[in-house]
Amino acid sequence: MTDFIPVNQPLLDGKEKQYLNECIDTGWISSEGPFIQRFESEFAARVNRKHGIAVTNGSAALDAAIVALGIGPGDEVILPTFTIISCAAAIVRAGATPVLVDSDPLTWNMDVSAIAAKITPKSKAIMVVHIYGLPVDLDPVLKLAHQHGLWVIEDAAEMHGQTYKGEPCGSFGDISTFSFYPNKHITTGEGGMLVTNNDALANRCRSLRNLCFQPQKRFIHEELGWNLRMTNLQAALGLAQLERLDEFAARKRRMGQHYTQLLSELPGLELPVAATAYAESIYWVYGIVLKEEVPFDAAEAMRRLGQHQIGTRPFFWGMHEQPVFKKMGLFEGETYPVAERLSRRGFYVPSGMALTPSQVEQVVTAVKNALK
Ligand SMILES: *Cc1c(COP(=O)(O)O)cnc(C)c1O
Repeated sequence: MTDFIPVNQPLLDGKEKQYLNECIDTGWISSEGPFIQRFESEFAARVNRKHGIAVTNGSAALDAAIVALGIGPGDEVILPTFTIISCAAAIVRAGATPVLVDSDPLTWNMDVSAIAAKITPKSKAIMVVHIYGLPVDLDPVLKLAHQHGLWVIEDAAEMHGQTYKGEPCGSFGDISTFSFYPNKHITTGEGGMLVTNNDALANRCRSLRNLCFQPQKRFIHEELGWNLRMTNLQAALGLAQLERLDEFAARKRRMGQHYTQLLSELPGLELPVAATAYAESIYWVYGIVLKEEVPFDAAEAMRRLGQHQIGTRPFFWGMHEQPVFKKMGLFEGETYPVAERLSRRGFYVPSGMALTPSQVEQVVTAVKNALK
């Protein structure tokens, strides 16, 4: 019996321990410590942005981005239906309306050709979300946003180290956001970051992160913020991880290519697209979609892989099919067939940073046996 292979395990064998010890030795453990600014400025520089604002997680970064852009009741934001709840939740919590588009069947990213038809006089922003490995085709999105005076929010939570036409993901939005959850390419345990070149937006984000305390009249508030402050301990981890981002991106690409090489012999599987005209996949996770000829769905495949000691996760479930939004009367009668198929037929296999080539081989053997 082989050991269980979890869906994700991070690699923490760089300077993480050294930097964490520095926090303990100096007593700097809150958000006031010196690693915060170092992590913010080095992370922002890495994605060609002027400002980085570290926060508690990637979902909170999206909440702050929406509010910082002044999006609220009466406004519409266009986003993919096939994404994490955080994206739509940020819009709904701000009192605005999410407007959905379907996915591209090959890249699994939002179908950018479907955006134009969704623009109305109420549209305020397009939220692009890079999904699983390949970036969204950004040029058409940026062009539409420019033509219609819309903000672009770029959710780059899965794309540290990825580029679009040679420029870093996270360098394209009016505000771009990242997550540092342990399954992301670099982790702080929990954590997130907003990045922007816009001084005023950066100040808004910093204020929203810190309860909208005012510099002169600290306890008098003109606006409601949150406490979204990252700790120095988390930033210490983040800095140590950031130092290895190139190596981590290369590891992920090798892992993805290894999976594809071994799995492409198997019938019935749709594998991730290795490259588009604008990027090579970074395989944040290695997704598999069961073709119609496979007589069961992703839930059954995952159950069988579990019996073979392989951890898996289902693909995202479309926002238009979320019970919580249906109860709010959102997306009534809307269907997005590509996303619906991905949710039912897709899942991902272990793809964490610590995964070894021999574990990849074990997973592939299990997939062969489980899908017979
Ligand atoms: C992980 C993720 C988030 C949320 O980040 P958390 O840090 O887990 O809150 C948001 N968007 C995308 C696309 C993600 O993958």
